[in-house]
Amino acid sequence: MDERRGEQFLVVGPLGPHAFEDLQRVLEDVALGMLHRILPHGGQHADHGRDPGEAVAREPGRRRGRINTAGRRQRRLERMAWSMSLFVLYFGTNRRYPNLAHHTILFGPRFQGLLRDIFHGHRLPEDFSLYLHAPTITDPGMAPPGGESFYVLSPVPHLGNAAIDWEAVAPGYGDAILAALEPHLPGLRDAIVTRRHFTPADFASRFNAHQGSAFSVAPTLTQSAYFRPHNRDPDIPGLYLVGAGTHPGAGVPGVVNSAKATCDTIAADFHVVGS
Ligand SMILES: Cc1cc2nc3c(=O)[nH]c(=O)nc-3n(C[C@H](O)[C@H](O)[C@H](O)COP(=O)(O)OP(=O)(O)OC[C@H]3O[C@@H](n4cnc5c(N)ncnc54)[C@H](O)[C@@H]3O)c2cc1C
Repeated sequence: MDERRGEQFLVVGPLGPHAFEDLQRVLEDVALGMLHRILPHGGQHADHGRDPGEAVAREPGRRRGRINTAGRRQRRLERMAWSMSLFVLYFGTNRRYPNLAHHTILFGPRFQGLLRDIFHGHRLPEDFSLYLHAPTITDPGMAPPGGESFYVLSPVPHLGNAAIDWEAVAPGYGDAILAALEPHLPGLRDAIVTRRHFTPADFASRFNAHQGSAFSVAPTLTQSAYFRPHNRDPDIPGLYLVGAGTHPGAGVPGVVNSAKATCDTIAADFHVVGS
């Protein structure tokens, strides 16, 4: 927490129920701190001459309201639909694949069924559709001379739908993906010199992403545009939200525009001109 001009700024990480859980905890700490500030040792109070009893009743009451509101917001977010997750495999080769494009999409044998399994299934589908990213096609400096760097991405269910033990599953799942890539990248598995993966469990533990979802709140019709969480929280004064889970949405352009919208909102609220 950073305090400037008596205002408090708090960063609680990506939007999700846990963010409001954290906020609830901080508000409780602040409410407790208020009690200590209002009724310091010796019976002196710092509330500009107002009756300390009245201040204790009023301030914590107002904050208690915000704590409860934070709890309600947490539950509302828990009920929202969350985007799919991803299995991402990063790897480098000691040879080049000059006929490859920078971006390649490889469709698997199923389409609608696979989408249903990714968004609503309770297990890891055996088949996959893949996005292969080869940045060295555009910038060879992304790998040592004569090599190529890649990541391949497979959309998978988030942890709330499919509680997969990713630590156990990931190496074999990565092997299956590399085998599927081999017809497009001849001799691939023999050419790999480095490899690591990032799973839904990593999205959850390393990025604090709710259910390990890769794109925050799902962009369904009723969770898009105005219906997406607002940049100025409607219930808790002084709380501003930014990033993939907020208006206008996920993806780098969406997040940059969300940052602009949030900055404009804060500037307007604090009467900052020419920001
Ligand atoms: C593999 C992959 C490929 C993608 N490709 C594209 C693409 O080609 N084009 C595109 O437009 N978008 C793409 N996206 C989506 C895009 O990256 C995201 O929508 C965007 O990065 C989200 O930005 P954000 O700032 O909301 O969240 P993030 O970038 O996830 O940033 C949130 C940060 O908060 C930190 N954090 C977590 N908890 C706390 C805490 N308690 N306190 C403080 N900080 C905390 C996290 O560590 C993280 O650094 C891709 C996403 C993935 C995963």
